[in-house]
Amino acid sequence: MQWLAAYLTVVPIPLRKLKKVYGYRTAKGRRTQSLGACNKENGVFTIGLNVGIAGEDQAIGTILQTFAHELAHMVHWDHTPEHAALEAAIYKRFAKRAKTLGVKDFSRPRREKKAGR
Ligand SMILES: [Zn+2]
Repeated sequence: MQWLAAYLTVVPIPLRKLKKVYGYRTAKGRRTQSLGACNKENGVFTIGLNVGIAGEDQAIGTILQTFAHELAHMVHWDHTPEHAALEAAIYKRFAKRAKTLGVKDFSRPRREKKAGR
């Protein structure tokens, strides 16, 4: 997970404890339960990101915001003001990095992003 370090400079996330990040989809016709999940087992974390409902992608901004939220759980497990502040700091780093990569609009689904960029 060290590849994430480039996106998280100055944000204190213990990436060595992050074992896996995976995407999942909500089956068509089912309500989305959540946009992501952070699981901790024996001090090691795995993060799941809901990338969309079958046949329909989430907007990249939604995925990055969810990823920032779940990463913040690695430091502040509960939904405290500290967790919210860290989530915001991580998302800010993601947005800054994405901007340098030429991503300007996070609101559209990823499929359109690829075509439009
Ligand atoms: Zn949460």
